[in-house]
Formats: sequence, C-alpha cells, structure tokens
Amino acid sequence: MAISPDDFTVSKLACPRCRSRLDVIETSSGGRTVSVTGLGAAVEQHAIALQRFQGPGAGPDIICPACEYRIDPSAPYRARFLWN
Ligand SMILES: [Zn+2]
Repeated sequence: MAISPDDFTVSKLACPRCRSRLDVIETSSGGRTVSVTGLGAAVEQHAIALQRFQGPGAGPDIICPACEYRIDPSAPYRARFLWN
C-alpha cells in the first residue's frame, strides 16, 4: 500500500533512558508509529520491540518501543529531538 508523503510526518528523537534512536511517524488519522532505527547499548540484547503503534487516543506521550519508557514530547526532552 502506497502512503502519500502528505499523510504523515516523521520526527526523529532519542530515548532519554535507553538512548535508542527513534522515528516517530504521525499519520493524518491521529495515530502514531514509533520505529527504532538504532538500538541503544542498554537494550541491544533485550529490546522489548522495534516498533510500536499508538492509536489516536493514546495521548501525546511517545512510548519507546525498546524499553517502554514514556517520553513526554513537550518537555524537557524536546531538546533531544534531532530535528522535526
Ligand atoms: Zn528507550
């Protein structure tokens, strides 16, 4: 299934707990897929998951798939966004 570039935005950030690099893909439907693009050393051997879908009702927090740390995107971790 092709996805139009207009239908989602991607933010890149690093989990403040396990240091994994994450892509956060937000869709026009309000859902969000968080993909691990690089595992941090702390979870390299035992990451819980490499991808996690959060539905439209999940709220603003981003859950790190690898360690399930709840990242508040508004503060203070916003500084950790690599770009968005
Ligand atoms: Zn993490």
